[in-house]
Amino acid sequence: MTDAVKVGFVPLSTAPKGVLVVFTDESMKFGPASRKHLANAGDVVKRAAAAAEFKGKSGSALDILAPQGVKAARLIVVGTGKAGSVKDEDFIKLGGTATGKIGSNASAVTLVAELPGGAMKPHQAAALAVGARLRGYKFDRYKTKTKDKDKALVAQFSVAVADVAAARKAFTRDAHVANGVVLARELVNEPPNVLYPAEFARRAAQLRKLGVKVEIFDVKAMEKLGMGALLGVSQGSYHPGRMVVMRWNGASNKADKPVAFVGKGVCFDTGGISIKPAGSMEEMKGDMAGAACVVGLMHALAARKAKVNAVGAIGIVENMPDGNAQRPGDIVKTMSGQTIEIINTDAEGRLVLADVLWYVTQKHKPKFIVDLATLTGAILVALGTEYAGLFSNNDQLSERLSKSGDATGERVWRMPLGPEFDKQIDSKFADMKNAAGRWGGSITAAQLLQRFVDNTPWAHLDIAGTAMGAPATDINTSWGSGYGVRLLDHLVAQHYETKR
Ligand code: MN
Ligand code: ZN
Repeated sequence: MTDAVKVGFVPLSTAPKGVLVVFTDESMKFGPASRKHLANAGDVVKRAAAAAEFKGKSGSALDILAPQGVKAARLIVVGTGKAGSVKDEDFIKLGGTATGKIGSNASAVTLVAELPGGAMKPHQAAALAVGARLRGYKFDRYKTKTKDKDKALVAQFSVAVADVAAARKAFTRDAHVANGVVLARELVNEPPNVLYPAEFARRAAQLRKLGVKVEIFDVKAMEKLGMGALLGVSQGSYHPGRMVVMRWNGASNKADKPVAFVGKGVCFDTGGISIKPAGSMEEMKGDMAGAACVVGLMHALAARKAKVNAVGAIGIVENMPDGNAQRPGDIVKTMSGQTIEIINTDAEGRLVLADVLWYVTQKHKPKFIVDLATLTGAILVALGTEYAGLFSNNDQLSERLSKSGDATGERVWRMPLGPEFDKQIDSKFADMKNAAGRWGGSITAAQLLQRFVDNTPWAHLDIAGTAMGAPATDINTSWGSGYGVRLLDHLVAQHYETKR
């Protein structure tokens, strides 16, 4: 892994080092500090802009090497679109865009945190820096030879700001969240021969260093709890399954009910006996992205010492075909006592979640529970890679998640639930079956989950389209996106932390 964008903050007036990055908009004007850097450059920018037809449009940039009269080896002017159109949620993208324009050839970068209308506020400058760090991430641990174009940007970023202390403070908090995102990406990107359930559990256990209590349940412990659905999925694998429960108790009242997050962690999903076709099967190493998000989120909450009690629980298994693998037709008994007929062994995520959701609702009695899972291909058909599917039994929680989605750019779109869908998973031989017909496949999957949350306010995020293999964005070029960490951190920060 390379996470090599080092960020520091300096006063706005500091002389630039290395690559100088300034921002403009379609007015093609600059803020006062940027103007000072360009004071001796004459019409260099104007002429270069004319030659490159650069007009300050959002996402565009002008790159000038060895600009005359500028104390920097290279000048990059980044466009932000229509004057005054930059919103709070855009600064992280702006930092990512700027970093993307730099490429891999820079050791020092000075980023002037200023728009033509004036200096960025501390939280905006911090977001800019976070965008730079997230964009700078590359997963290259397994490349022994690196071509130039694949080289990671390794650079010291000096973000020039109006209020150094305030920006530094905001960034310190946000950097913990960014580290959580990187941790989630890292787990998703790891190959499945490296990241099998026991290894995943070991990595989650590292959170102990941050004061998180981590309990690891092995097969025996889960048998004792009666988790027949999770264990049925995992029984065909050489690597035994695990459940990991992480607890962060940061609220001032330790007896406060916790918020809870549950993640699907299928370290590799072959489909089992209902085996998948070979094409793109390698991507099923990412079928644990929900669990990765929960671990990344718990990292973020603990590292920034969030004033909340939070539980993160993940079911981690491998779904393999084997002489001992479960069959279509098998009936398993869940921890809740309800039975499930296996129709398709590739609909395994809901089986894993059924037991973990039930465990968390019964054992921890949370205020609410949000689960994340790369659950269905059907959600890609419905929503593509821009939105995660949101299913919920609670309007308030849904609305809060939607707002946090808009604020972080990790967007969700609410999908329906209802009795007419629920009855589609009734089974001839058991209480329910794990697969219904083709239509509304994401919904019937969510209906099964709902049977395991009691009356707990609950939301299910189907992240099959957003967590892995989504197109590169301003802040991510790696395969695993780390989707959900910033979304849920924002949700917690906005609504569930005790006031200081
Ligand atoms: Mn599957
Ligand atoms: Zn799966």
